[in-house]
Amino acid sequence: MDAIAIDFETANERRDSACAVGVAWIEDGRVVRRETRLIRPPELRFSPGNIRIHGILPADVRDQPNLPEAMEAFLPDLSNRLVLAHNAGFDMGVLAASLAAWGKPMPAVAYLCTLRVARQVFPDPAGCGLAKVAARLGIRFEHHDAGEDAYACAEIALAAMREIGATRVAALPRLLNMPAALLPGGYRPDTESRRSTASRALLSGQQQPKPAPDLRFSVRGSTGNHYGIALEERSFGLYLRCDCIAGRHRRRCRHVDAMIDGDVTDLISGNFADIERLRLRILAADGLVEPSRARAQVELRRQFGFA
Ligand SMILES: [Zn+2]
Repeated sequence: MDAIAIDFETANERRDSACAVGVAWIEDGRVVRRETRLIRPPELRFSPGNIRIHGILPADVRDQPNLPEAMEAFLPDLSNRLVLAHNAGFDMGVLAASLAAWGKPMPAVAYLCTLRVARQVFPDPAGCGLAKVAARLGIRFEHHDAGEDAYACAEIALAAMREIGATRVAALPRLLNMPAALLPGGYRPDTESRRSTASRALLSGQQQPKPAPDLRFSVRGSTGNHYGIALEERSFGLYLRCDCIAGRHRRRCRHVDAMIDGDVTDLISGNFADIERLRLRILAADGLVEPSRARAQVELRRQFGFA
């Protein structure tokens, strides 16, 4: 047994809204099996931005199994192998939140993020989004089909394995000095915290800010300093401001790049759901504006690596 790659698509901004899962199994240095399952989320509310990404509609999943049913046959494998996902924080969050939504505990998993692996083994200034890395490595796949995305994630791990001369994908954490993250069995995400904060504010008579406050994040920089990143709505478009030195000098910094990639590795503010909101806001605005040049609209597809 070596490793298993997983990828989720979601119906809306909520982590528990998985509407498709893709799984790819790795044995003996190759992908030996892949599966895609459609999933009926707890509510059939699909955001236009999400539909634009994966093309799955409410009618497609209305008669499909819910997540615990769809994943039942796969969950033992997730607990018994190294789990791979590209930007794993997202996919592990979706799995845990979706299981919790149906009252099921998360199985114990050890997972490795292939976005982090790619950044270390195949670094590139253009970024390490799934489509970009796959294109550079010659991996052919249909982006945003869950099974295809899981397959591409598995192939990226296999390419990294060959690149560093390893014989098993499961050896990557040790050889890259990148310990697999461990989720203990039974883990349940706190999906209510945002709502309860809002209700507390209402109860205490505080005014809800109008319009909704821009998205804010705190990240840990490479030297351990903490930086604040805020999404600002400017007359010329959407702008992600970071208060690190580069950001203050209106240069694009790696903290902003990580937010755009949806990489939550260094996120310390804990607002994982806001990463998805950020992605949807950027999608809706058709991209971000570069800090240094107000008129230089950065192409959405290039930002996100959509092929
Ligand atoms: Zn920064």
